[in-house]
Amino acid sequence: MKSRFAPSPTGYLHIGGARTALFAWAYAKKQQGNFVLRIENTDRERSTQASVDAILDGMNWLGLDYDEGPFYQTQRFERYQAVIRQLLNEDKAYYCECSKKRLEDLREVLMAKGEKAMYDGCCRDKNLTSGVVRFKNPQEGVVIFEDKVKGKISIANKELDDLIIARTDGTPTYNLTVVVDDHDMEISHVIRGDDHINNTPRQINLYEALNWALPKFAHLPMILGSDGARLSKRHGAVSVMAYRDAGFLPEALLNYLVRLGWSHGDQEVFCLDEIVSLFDLKDINKAPASFNEEKLLWLNQEYIKKSTPEHLIKNLQWHLNEQSFNTSNGPDLPLVVNALQARSKTLVEMVEGMKMYYQDFDKFDKKLADKQFKDTAPLAALLEELMQLDIWEAEAIKSCIKQVCDDLGIGFGKVGQPFRLALSGNGNAGNIDAVAELIGKSITLKRLEKAIQYVG
Ligand code: GLU
Repeated sequence: MKSRFAPSPTGYLHIGGARTALFAWAYAKKQQGNFVLRIENTDRERSTQASVDAILDGMNWLGLDYDEGPFYQTQRFERYQAVIRQLLNEDKAYYCECSKKRLEDLREVLMAKGEKAMYDGCCRDKNLTSGVVRFKNPQEGVVIFEDKVKGKISIANKELDDLIIARTDGTPTYNLTVVVDDHDMEISHVIRGDDHINNTPRQINLYEALNWALPKFAHLPMILGSDGARLSKRHGAVSVMAYRDAGFLPEALLNYLVRLGWSHGDQEVFCLDEIVSLFDLKDINKAPASFNEEKLLWLNQEYIKKSTPEHLIKNLQWHLNEQSFNTSNGPDLPLVVNALQARSKTLVEMVEGMKMYYQDFDKFDKKLADKQFKDTAPLAALLEELMQLDIWEAEAIKSCIKQVCDDLGIGFGKVGQPFRLALSGNGNAGNIDAVAELIGKSITLKRLEKAIQYVG
């Protein structure tokens, strides 16, 4: 079997497109078939190289590897031309010279009558030799197909008009190119968004006119935003790469995407291997799926928690480069990452948390410092204790804090909190003794001195 993802490069790879790609990819992997990437760039005005690059980057970041392609439709124009000629020669297509004005008037008349705006076949039997080329859609009968998701679909041919398959400049249109490509590339399963479901009967008629075997069709349910409208830019980030930028792990996004319209019992967390081994078209839901940022964030946190530091570091690299963040002077990165894993929902948060380990800060958070550094005695006593410490380890550091608490007769928080603020600048840090161990003795002492000298 063979499936494909056939995006039009007119924007970024968005969440909906990535979900389609993932389903087509997972099904091919599960069936041990091939997955094809085809760039549908025949619309020369709207297609851009930047969009092609964005799609390739998105696929690459998500790890959706393709066995064939990327194929580009613009490189296949001769083939489309040949098919259009064949249809014309066999009297299965015809030239149409209807003016824009005539088509608009026709449309208005039909709409006014409450009818569907359709081409009336005016040029069908005129034997013209120029203009757009229209496919002679059968006028009788019914197109019936079994959609793998939606079930049996039937539509009467009289509901379908004669579709334009080539524009006046000879360039082919989507419905023609998609049929030729899916046939030539031996696609057995056309898995795509259900915004294309109305095109499918027209495409089936084209297959039949060309005497080509039909692929199987699976139309995926729509993705809705939180307000119930189709997911769009209005709902926030919809580009896949924006999720990378916001600190998501690709496997968390994939896990999230696979649940948009597909389920396996009530399981929520799926590693990639599981997705591949469990994925089946019969488990795709008919109903639209709702996009839920909260759930995606939860999954991301789950993945961050259970990843190895090495894996996280690989994914952090882009963020570190973006910020020219240097981690060579300071504690071992895997140790720092490990210390932050349990408390970071995103990699962006993690990078924020890393700063105190590798960078000095100019100022303490004023509100916190005014309060916590008011009484300098606990920090001064702690500085005394820590200065004498030979073995710089969390356990020993903790004992020093306890010692100060005992000596001054105060609770752990009275020392721990200002200490945390002294080391982090903003109070956001985990286990303070472990943090101090990682930061190292000399920086810890320096920051303590700075805190003691703080004047609000
Ligand atoms: N190029 C079409 C799109 O991006 C998809 C075509 C298809 O999957 O048949 O919407």
